[in-house]
Parts: sequence; C-alpha cells; structure tokens
Amino acid sequence: MSFPVPGHDHRRCVAGALDAAEAECRRRGARLTDVRRRVLELVWASHAPIGAYAVLDALAGDGRAAAPPTVYRALDFLLAHGLVHRIERLNAFIGCSHPGAPHSGQFLLCKECGAAAELDDPAIAGAVATASARVGFTVTGQTVEAEGLCALCRREGGDG
Ligand SMILES: [Zn+2]
Ligand SMILES: [Zn+2]
Ligand SMILES: [Zn+2]
Repeated sequence: MSFPVPGHDHRRCVAGALDAAEAECRRRGARLTDVRRRVLELVWASHAPIGAYAVLDALAGDGRAAAPPTVYRALDFLLAHGLVHRIERLNAFIGCSHPGAPHSGQFLLCKECGAAAELDDPAIAGAVATASARVGFTVTGQTVEAEGLCALCRREGGDG
C-alpha cells in the first residue's frame, strides 16, 4: 500500500480491503465474524495506524461497547491472518491492502499526517539477511519501520 492520494475515494479503499479480507478468510477457511469485520473496518478508518483503545472507543460509539479482550482477540485474529499489520513503534495497527501476498515487513510512517505506507522491497530484506549471515545469524522475521515525511507533507512544508 502506498501513501494515499489526497482527496481519493477512501470508501473504495475500505470496500476493497473488506472484499480482500473476505476472500483471504475464505481461502484460509477462517471466519470473518461481524466483530472481526467491524474491527477491520475501524482499522481502515484512515491510512494512519490506530491503537487498540481508539478501536474500543469507536466500537463504543457504534453503541456496541465491546470488552477490551474482545477487541484484542479480534485484532489478534486479523494479525494472524495478515489482514492488519502491527506498527511496533506506535503500538498501533494498519490495514493491509494485499493480504495473502508475500511481505517484507517494511513500513514508512509520516510524522506529519500520520499516514503509513508499506514497502515491499526484497533488496532490503536481502541486505539484512546477508549482513546477519556474516555474523552467523539466521533471520526468521524482520520488520523495518522508517519515520519521516510523505511526499505531500514535504511539499506542504516547503511551501510554508
Ligand atoms: Zn484510502
Ligand atoms: Zn500488507
Ligand atoms: Zn504525511
């Protein structure tokens, strides 16, 4: 997922993500229950990562206040099936627009607008694996989180 284009039709992002999630769950024989689907929808409320407590608040706003364990379980499910990613640096979650595809676990986080984007560059993963092998370390998982300014925020900063 790249950075969102300003003024884009975000309903299409959400609809596309929910469709992709349904398809991925079907493929895996997993069940996207109502609460899991709603939590996924809330994670997709924007392109900025959202924390578990904000998800809880939004559910309460629905008039279906859920107990924290319900939300944590739903998030665990979504994580386990690759429908959301966890951004460790922010202790928050971001929706995945291409579940089921290979991932390198690379994320760009804009400090200004809060949006996050996924990179999938095998060269980065390869460089980490090669450097690790030199010290006798075998990489079984890696996450790269880079923080900075997206193109839009950089432009706006330049104007001011
Ligand atoms: Zn969008
Ligand atoms: Zn992803
Ligand atoms: Zn930005």
